[in-house]
Amino acid sequence: MSKVPFRIYLSEKEIPRQWYNLRADMKEQHDQYINPGTMKEAKLEDLYPVFCEELAKQEMDIESRYIDIPEEILEFYKIYRPSPLCRAYNLEKALETPARIYYKFEGNNTSGSHKLNSAVAQVYYAKKQGINSLTTETGAGQWGTALSEACAYFNIPLTIYMVKVSAEQKPYRKAIMETFGAKVIPSPSNLTNAGRAILAKNPTTGGSLGCAISEAIEHAVSEENCRYVLGSVLNQVLLHQSIIGLEAKLAMEKIDEYPDIIIGCAGGGSNLGGLIAPFMQDKLLGKAKPHFIAVEPASCPSLTRGKYAYDFCDTGKITPLAKMYTLGCEFIPSPNHAGGLRYHGMSPLLSKLYHDGLLDEALAVEQSKVFEAATLFAKCETILPAPESSHAIYGAIKEALKCKETGETKTILFGLTGTGYFDMQAYMQYNTGKMTDYIPTDEDLQKGFDSLPKIPGIQ
Ligand SMILES: *Cc1c(COP(=O)(O)O)cnc(C)c1O
Repeated sequence: MSKVPFRIYLSEKEIPRQWYNLRADMKEQHDQYINPGTMKEAKLEDLYPVFCEELAKQEMDIESRYIDIPEEILEFYKIYRPSPLCRAYNLEKALETPARIYYKFEGNNTSGSHKLNSAVAQVYYAKKQGINSLTTETGAGQWGTALSEACAYFNIPLTIYMVKVSAEQKPYRKAIMETFGAKVIPSPSNLTNAGRAILAKNPTTGGSLGCAISEAIEHAVSEENCRYVLGSVLNQVLLHQSIIGLEAKLAMEKIDEYPDIIIGCAGGGSNLGGLIAPFMQDKLLGKAKPHFIAVEPASCPSLTRGKYAYDFCDTGKITPLAKMYTLGCEFIPSPNHAGGLRYHGMSPLLSKLYHDGLLDEALAVEQSKVFEAATLFAKCETILPAPESSHAIYGAIKEALKCKETGETKTILFGLTGTGYFDMQAYMQYNTGKMTDYIPTDEDLQKGFDSLPKIPGIQ
């Protein structure tokens, strides 16, 4: 067999024309969403004030195995897709492993991450429904950037509440969003009741994700025909991200490969859910049995130490409640955490798979180990990885080193979700030996669990 190239590209014509809805093949579904207003099971119509109708339907759809990607979205995907599948020859060499390591690289667009795959879909459906404007929050900035790009393309005004310390630490991130025409407001601001209340109490606060979400939501509900959009966690987002796994599977088929192990970083679960979707289908249908691993930060360990319980998907407590692995929607990781993936919960779909033992393994890693893996990867593969993505790199290296011990020639596939150009503060901390790790104690976690909602008759 001739040598597999460094990068396996599909052609434009091979971009999948349908998303794959994993739930259509799951024998058991995650527990129903709960309407926070009534505390009863949410019906489709209950979701309409929160999501565009088409997206609400996708959120609830457990029957359509494949969903056509609208032509307008495909046209946008063609700008930056298909994304390459890469063979990590140099990393393999550095590790002296007999394993074959592949990664699917989603950082080849200006947002620097996979988030654009769902941003463009969400904005398209909003446009189609005649929504006038959108709001969101952003912490690290990838979601805000992706949404700015999509809103610029479909010409919809966008207001982004960006955590104030982030806006100050990452002025270039803010500048990118503004270049695409988004209005970026450091949060807390004096434009909303939520922001004013926090500023009155603490005028010099640097803000938090929770506060930015509350401001974005207040803005959305107080402005006519405006919607708030979320970049992870939801079924609709995992559906859009299935494009990652579908392309990866197709590219691997071309070189006659099939992964034994599939690894992804896990924040809200959208990239992992998207990457594993078609491979999980094989597992559900009994065609193959790849081993799935989720890697999360030790400082925000929702899968490994969270509770499987109903919780709000947002800190603002207006989205439907979902049964998921969660640290409690008021959980905030320790201030020294620079490695991303700070979301309190995990996609209900992935939570269900993990609970049922179909998502095989979850691994929590300290950030200094994550940056060590990131640095080795950067030197070998010439891509500066996002800290989030580097959790998956850590997992892949760990598995490759196991193969070195056993001599097994396993095929490892991991998701390289994005680039880390705007995370140089964290890289600098690591490079100068100033990065510290903090693993929350059980008491720290208990505070978050205390914020779990009480639901009459359910929990
Ligand atoms: C947002 C983000 C993640 C985590 O989000 P998921 O929904 O868990 O995929 C991972 N990597 C990058 C680069 C991101 O921007």
